[in-house]
Amino acid sequence: MQTGKIGVTSENLFPIIKKFLYSDHDIFLREIVSNAVDATQKLKTLASKGEYTGDVSNAKVRVKLDTAAKTITVSDNGIGMTAEEIEKYINQIAFSGANDFLEKYKDDANAIIGHFGLGFYSSFMVSEKVEIVTKSYREGAKAVKWSCTGSPEFTLDDAERDEVGTDIIMYISEAENGFLDESKITHILEKYCAFLPVPVTFGKKKEWKDGKQVETEEDNQINDTAPAWTKAPVDLKDEDYKAFYRKLYPMADEPLFNIHLNVDYPFNLTGILYFPKIKNNFEVQKNKIQLYSNQVFVTDSVEGIVPEFLTLLHGVLDSPDIPLNVSRSYLQSDSNVKKISSHINKKVADRLAQIFKDNREDFEKKWDDLKIFIEYGMLTEEKFYERAINFFLFKNVDGKYFTFEEYEKLIKDSQTDKSKNLVHVYATNTTEQFTFVEAARNKGYDVLLMDDVLTPHVIQKFEQKYTDKKFVRVDSEVADHLIDKDDTPKNELTWEQKEELSPIFQAVCPEGKDNYFIVDFKELGENSAPMVITRSEFMRRMKDMSATGGGMSFYGEMPESLNLVVNTNHPLVKKVLESKDKKLGAKLEKMVAEIAAKKAEIDVLEKEQKGKKDEEIPTAEKEKLSDLNAELSKLEEAKRESLTAFGKENKLAKQLADLALLANGMLKGADLDKFVKRSVELIK
Ligand code: ADP
Repeated sequence: MQTGKIGVTSENLFPIIKKFLYSDHDIFLREIVSNAVDATQKLKTLASKGEYTGDVSNAKVRVKLDTAAKTITVSDNGIGMTAEEIEKYINQIAFSGANDFLEKYKDDANAIIGHFGLGFYSSFMVSEKVEIVTKSYREGAKAVKWSCTGSPEFTLDDAERDEVGTDIIMYISEAENGFLDESKITHILEKYCAFLPVPVTFGKKKEWKDGKQVETEEDNQINDTAPAWTKAPVDLKDEDYKAFYRKLYPMADEPLFNIHLNVDYPFNLTGILYFPKIKNNFEVQKNKIQLYSNQVFVTDSVEGIVPEFLTLLHGVLDSPDIPLNVSRSYLQSDSNVKKISSHINKKVADRLAQIFKDNREDFEKKWDDLKIFIEYGMLTEEKFYERAINFFLFKNVDGKYFTFEEYEKLIKDSQTDKSKNLVHVYATNTTEQFTFVEAARNKGYDVLLMDDVLTPHVIQKFEQKYTDKKFVRVDSEVADHLIDKDDTPKNELTWEQKEELSPIFQAVCPEGKDNYFIVDFKELGENSAPMVITRSEFMRRMKDMSATGGGMSFYGEMPESLNLVVNTNHPLVKKVLESKDKKLGAKLEKMVAEIAAKKAEIDVLEKEQKGKKDEEIPTAEKEKLSDLNAELSKLEEAKRESLTAFGKENKLAKQLADLALLANGMLKGADLDKFVKRSVELIK
């Protein structure tokens, strides 16, 4: 028997392994099993070169759990090791600059293991003792047993092993005895080993018998050794892709399309990406792509490896060229990763372009499920935008689809405003905005349906890119003013009349906590509604964007401002004006006259004081001016009050405002009830 010390420069290897590798203890099994898989593949390679003449047709890795002995054993029939090889590969592990590195990556077990080739040593994260019983494939090699209890001392001894291959026997420590659980081991194996290229078995298959699960004779194989992505696309049918998808995500809806990636130069990359149906809450869809390295599962967090928007895709990427064991920030600067990322980006755009070209009908059918993904890509990746703009689709309220270009042609004649802007009119909800949609269509405009969470951002992007394109939501203005064409009827009210109507109509606006109304006057023509409610495009868009986290939370908290647009051409509005004259006539005229007189007085005084320095003006005069101003305010206030009082009493004004609210679905409860009663009264 031989004893010795493991060749690490730091005496503290084991404490370090135990201390720093806490974050993800599960991966010890991945490391040990993939070493075993490598060993069998190496033996196959030797056999194919004629350097080994034994049978390699039955390569296999077995995982065994012995709860009584508290061991987990991983056995393979691979190349094995001689005593010298153990010395070289297991005992002499290079370990320079260890402490610095460990300090830096203390939370990243993957990085540490990868950096030092500590794969095998990760077994000490969970074991108090590890034994290797191994027999090399070399002629005449003797079986040996290496044993180490987690201090740098090890023993090496002769052993018994008939077959070529290796057993790694891990004596699970008390603190980690959670690993002595069959379902836990099954879970880890299924996560990391599901697609390893050599059969990995764990115990026996079970079946139900007389209400109990009993073991059968058959080995319980964990993995599919030839998953779909490792096959050639020509050998796969649509059904195979779908079946593989179901295997990856048993709970998910059917995917829309898939892309099979297969590159071997200048980097190695295989994989299958799927376009899932993306619901509005796309945050939860992220991190579904699984990353493999030669069929060993590495991670399902691919951020930094694929462009952000592609993290919405599902599927598998497999590349030995992605440095797996480095930090995320390093990953993004790695040239291979950059190449891979832009390759995937391009492939995805190509595939979409191809489906669009080959089968537009199908593409249109899937558009609603695809658009969030495409919009997200267009917003975040300029390269993708440039390609996607050719297959991005607008959908109008009739459910017809148009490309960007097609739509431009469609609306060019009817929807160009006087400044030569092409105005896109859109609705976000055809039920709620029904009256507006109808009004716009009656004007001969086409109305788009743009109703997803990214809509405000997409519109913003389009308007930034094409300064001669505008987007207006159908209820942001009355139909006549959606597209400013200079052909609107002339206003028939004077400024004074409007000034008087303003408090009257302000008085009939509902008072709400979350919104406030601003009365506005527009010439909409006799045949349009007497009053309409619109929402400022700017405010609304800012609010929408803040809702999806566009960094505008300030707007999200503001109350909504709505416009009560009064149609100054409408006879009913004129009727309100007439009844005001009748009711307030003489009284109001007197007020107006008084106000005018006050203003004249103020004017005279102000003119006198103009050009004089402050100290040149007598105090008495200064006081007089400020008194006059106060009196003027009082008069104006009184005028506004009497107009407001009139407005509150005026059934017609109230009725008109309620009608506008009703058309917007904003008249509810007691107000609706009052409206109905008032209507009956007015009709009587
Ligand atoms: P890595 O696998 O990154 O080289 P490890 O510490 O996991 O680092 O393994 C070190 C070496 O030990 C391997 O390269 C291999 O030569 C040898 N080895 C480990 N496990 C086995 C095994 N099951 N069969 C044969 N050789 C093995």
